Amino acid sequence: MGVALASAALVAPLKRHPPTIATYCSHSSLQIFHGARQEGYRTLGIAAGKPPRYYEAFPLARPDAFLSIPKLDQLPKYVSRLNREHAILVPHGSFVEYLGPERFAALPVPVFGNRAVLAWESDREKEREWLEGAGVQMPRRYETVDDIDGPAIVKYYGAKGGKGFILAKNKEALRDFRPTGPFVIQQYVLGTRYYIHFFYSPLSRDGYRVGPGSLELLGMDRRDEANIDELYKLGAQEELLAAGIRPTFVVTGNVPVVLRESLLPQVFDIGARIVERSIELFGGMVGPFCVEGIVTEELKFYVFEISTRIVAGTNVFPSGSSYADLVAPNLSMGRRMAIEISRAREQDRLREVLS
Ligand code: ATP
Repeated sequence: MGVALASAALVAPLKRHPPTIATYCSHSSLQIFHGARQEGYRTLGIAAGKPPRYYEAFPLARPDAFLSIPKLDQLPKYVSRLNREHAILVPHGSFVEYLGPERFAALPVPVFGNRAVLAWESDREKEREWLEGAGVQMPRRYETVDDIDGPAIVKYYGAKGGKGFILAKNKEALRDFRPTGPFVIQQYVLGTRYYIHFFYSPLSRDGYRVGPGSLELLGMDRRDEANIDELYKLGAQEELLAAGIRPTFVVTGNVPVVLRESLLPQVFDIGARIVERSIELFGGMVGPFCVEGIVTEELKFYVFEISTRIVAGTNVFPSGSSYADLVAPNLSMGRRMAIEISRAREQDRLREVLS
């Protein structure tokens, strides 16, 4: 038996009644509902206002029922309805962000994965403590502008949605920098970005063993980030700034990628270290997480961020990927979560995958 994350009382009804897989209608919800239905689960879409019309266009992913509420932050008022439906909530970026990590973590409804991870992911300081403690290479952090010795990126705390970043070629470019709030300065790593979709199963005893379970690699994407991806074509930074054009990293979409096979040992090692440290720090991560990093020309992988739940980049792969196809046929991240829930029910280990 592994770490029990959920109380016996929270999961007891789910042993007797088939659960309903519920999530907020946005982000990766189509894939979550599709995967849950493939495994025979009933699905519930939580909508702020009317359910989005685009669901009508996707019959295999449209949830069986909707819970329409005026605004997402009122979800705590609907807890008894969710529990009556035997809902298991699946967190995703927009769900956690719009409800707020604290409010999400406090919901007295079963959640897939370890909700304790939200506190570690949503705080840049704690995230660095976790990743550096795991021995993972991150971009250097500069305490002051004077310490900068190459290209740098300034990130305001709480920079959200890809805005609130400043890029600088060198420290001279930041001489006139007057911060408007708390910020960090990082080494700007030059290389190629990869967003690696892992799944950690505490139940599995096969495959790439890490801690009490196994680590799976199900896909990889790269984000298209509004103007930054094309900005270089327009020329030098100073001229762009003079023209009033600032770089933003607003994500507009995702593209599938694969990594040189010789880099796989490095990324599995990174994934394994992050999981092992999470077990020591807060009982472990369960289910999907995404390691977001940059590979330099020296073939070194720097991790600048981790997302500890399903990421929207997995939407590229609703029926398999270059990696998931080698694990099982027709496997999406949404489906993988549903499979884990089924296994946990069969083995009477729901407390290890829900919290
Ligand atoms: P999100 O929560 O949407 O993942 P965020 O607001 O936390 O984003 P980051 O993920 O830290 O911001 O960074 C946004 C983008 O900035 C990245 O996708 C990447 O393109 C770029 N970036 C961030 N840190 C670095 C770095 N140290 N070197 C080079 N590029 C970076």
